[in-house]
Amino acid sequence: MIEALQKMQGRDDVRAKANLIQRIAGLKDGGGADEAAPIEPDPFSQDEPPAHDKSNVEALAQLRSVTAMCTKCPHLAAFRHTVVFGVGNPNADLMFVGEAPGADEDLRGEPFVGRAGELLTKIIQTMGFERSEVYIANVLKCRPDMPVGAPGNRQPTEQEMANCLPYLRQQIDLIRPKVIVALGGVAMRGLFGTNEPMKNLRARWHTFGSVPVMATFHPSYLLRNQALTEKRKVWEDMLLVLERLGRHITERQRNYFLKG
Ligand code: SF4
Repeated sequence: MIEALQKMQGRDDVRAKANLIQRIAGLKDGGGADEAAPIEPDPFSQDEPPAHDKSNVEALAQLRSVTAMCTKCPHLAAFRHTVVFGVGNPNADLMFVGEAPGADEDLRGEPFVGRAGELLTKIIQTMGFERSEVYIANVLKCRPDMPVGAPGNRQPTEQEMANCLPYLRQQIDLIRPKVIVALGGVAMRGLFGTNEPMKNLRARWHTFGSVPVMATFHPSYLLRNQALTEKRKVWEDMLLVLERLGRHITERQRNYFLKG
């Protein structure tokens, strides 16, 4: 019953979202821019999508089409295969934000689809969600360009992230998540302009607009550093997120990655 009432309230917001769509259209002219052996099986190692608010789906589709034509960063527009807008539940309570698409994401048009993406999916599932229940996006929608033939990826520049941040703001305005998880220091720099190291940013709450933000290490960090202690740090951040969302946390969940 409560869910039904919330959905009705959501429909009452259609007019507000129509205004958002107009603002989105205005962007066209704007321009303002690790691993000791776990004590027990590692939960990171190993659907029907939820009903969506139609107005959110439409508004996000419009915003996606705007970003698909964006050339605010001409060098990135010329380099990209796709604009990696975002994926997931338009009405998600939980949103993950990374820094920028890599090569895999650029080719497939979806954020977090490489090895780091697989680990993120495991983290999401260990939290008790399906990947399709949350929303996943990056600060930057286009892959940072690289010299021809150069391997790997580079971090986005401050200017590139400033150019693209309005799109992420619009996504957040439309999705209205209860909590955002910022994955990695670069994502935090894009969101807040901070250069603080992650050890100073994680395990406490920040606010973007009116949305609580938890910072934690990027999954690629955990792929490079598989120490149990580092996995536990990320997991403690996720426990704080679950508490903030009012989710039931099992004893087993509380104890993941603790030394015996
Ligand atoms: S990174 Fe963002 S702002 Fe830059 S061209 Fe791509 S969509 Fe536009």
